[in-house]
Amino acid sequence: MFHNTESEEELREQVQGLEQEILQVLRENSDLKRRLRQNRISSLPTRDQLQEDLDDILYSWTHPHQTFQAVMLIRLGQEIDELKNSIDTAAYEWVIYQIGHRLQELIPEGMYLYHVRSLDFLVMYQPESSHSLRTFLALVLERVTSPVLMGSSLQIVRASLGMSLFPRDGRTMTELLLKANLALGQAQKNAKPFKIYSPEILVKEKNRQALYQDLLKALVGSPEEGGSSQFELYYQPKIKLSNLSESKARLAKIDAEVLIRWNHPQKGLLFPGTFLPLAEETGLILPLGKWLFYEFARFQERNKGNPLENSLAYSINVSPKQLTSSDLAEVLQNLVAQSALSAAKTTLELTESCLYEEPERTRQLLDKLKTMGFPLSLDDFGTGYSSLTNIHQFPISELKIDQSFVRNLPGNSQDLAIVQSTLMMGKAMGLSVIAEGVETQAQLQTLWGMGCDRIQGYLISHPLTESELKSFVERIHFQGMLFEVRNNEA
Ligand code: C2E
Ligand code: CA
Ligand code: CA
Repeated sequence: MFHNTESEEELREQVQGLEQEILQVLRENSDLKRRLRQNRISSLPTRDQLQEDLDDILYSWTHPHQTFQAVMLIRLGQEIDELKNSIDTAAYEWVIYQIGHRLQELIPEGMYLYHVRSLDFLVMYQPESSHSLRTFLALVLERVTSPVLMGSSLQIVRASLGMSLFPRDGRTMTELLLKANLALGQAQKNAKPFKIYSPEILVKEKNRQALYQDLLKALVGSPEEGGSSQFELYYQPKIKLSNLSESKARLAKIDAEVLIRWNHPQKGLLFPGTFLPLAEETGLILPLGKWLFYEFARFQERNKGNPLENSLAYSINVSPKQLTSSDLAEVLQNLVAQSALSAAKTTLELTESCLYEEPERTRQLLDKLKTMGFPLSLDDFGTGYSSLTNIHQFPISELKIDQSFVRNLPGNSQDLAIVQSTLMMGKAMGLSVIAEGVETQAQLQTLWGMGCDRIQGYLISHPLTESELKSFVERIHFQGMLFEVRNNEA
């Protein structure tokens, strides 16, 4: 058709252009593939590459059959995540590059290293013996966690490592990775540098999952189906003494701390230690905490007309996550406006870890709660890293001396000194100080002798149900506020 040479020339050019375009697309595609298979910062192979290599790796592990292989998952600490999210991305990239490079230097020929996620590295190592595995593991951790020099400063790097073993822990990569990941989770949870997978970890994880499902069901199910009503409020008296003789105490006031219990349909009555950490970790503490405030308001409503019950003030524990949730103040505000809940008679107990996460934001929230009329208490005092002077920045009105300092009174002179100085400084700063976990007469006498007139503990009473609390308060009033102190009251 194209007899004209000019047209042939044009056509050739067109075809060539088209070829170039196709080549360009192909190049870009392979470039994309290459980029997917190689991390931009560390230049190490990625998860996509691992996926492609899996068959080869497993084949090499089974032909000829190797003794064992270690799958190690290394996760850098949160400080690197913070660096990643800061404006200084160059600093983050430099640290990642350095760590990738250090690992690469360590990995012997024929073994594998991947950069599987921004903070996660995967090493597959074939040890000659369990001794060489231990040495290698220590070396990996040592190299990864050596500080990285950045200009004139050093970046601290923390890391955790989880390890599973082929073929002991699994014969597929999915299984081995899952188990290395579970081990890593355990290492992180227990603040350990590394953890080697063991079957108990899987059992623990399965129990955790089951408990999580139960907790979820208990929270979302309607009360008719057992939801929320599975939880119950207990009340532990917090008393103020006006006098103490050998075995008789005169009480000036009775207050109570609200403590949650879970009536698990199969497991029976569960204490907070068995489910609150999971609730806190998974965020379920937020609906649970909210339910607790509403339930407490209903309790107040029920007892509105009861003069004895009305004389009590209460404390409610607030966990760190609850304090960072955006609607805590709002929920409390609504309850104060619409229910029998009285701010002045509801102390919020916080732990030190609540205060220092985001001190500025926390201070603002605490100021707001204080303005709304809620007294604030610092629980477990002495177990964190607060000094009395930095507590002063927060609108706290009560300190609870942690039970660990009370337990060994009066014998332990160090604890005596700590309790004594907390009492003195607390009082000098106008704070009310209460000792918790008082179990013996000797502890009570010692505390009273040091000027501590506020006490909570099994010596006075265990946590009680609503009706038990009622009886307790009635009994004390009936006895003219006298209380017989007996060592094995419980
Ligand atoms: P906590 O606030 O320090 O509460 C004191 C814990 O010590 C309670 O355990 C109480 O039963 C126990 N206890 C009281 N007197 C004595 C004593 O004389 N000796 C000994 N050995 N122990 C004593 P419980 O009820 O198991 O609560 C454990 C923790 O769970 C509480 O520690 C608190 O941090 C948390 N918690 C309990 N209820 C709630 C809640 O409703 N919300 C939140 N956020 N946390 C809660
Ligand atoms: Ca408490
Ligand atoms: Ca406490």
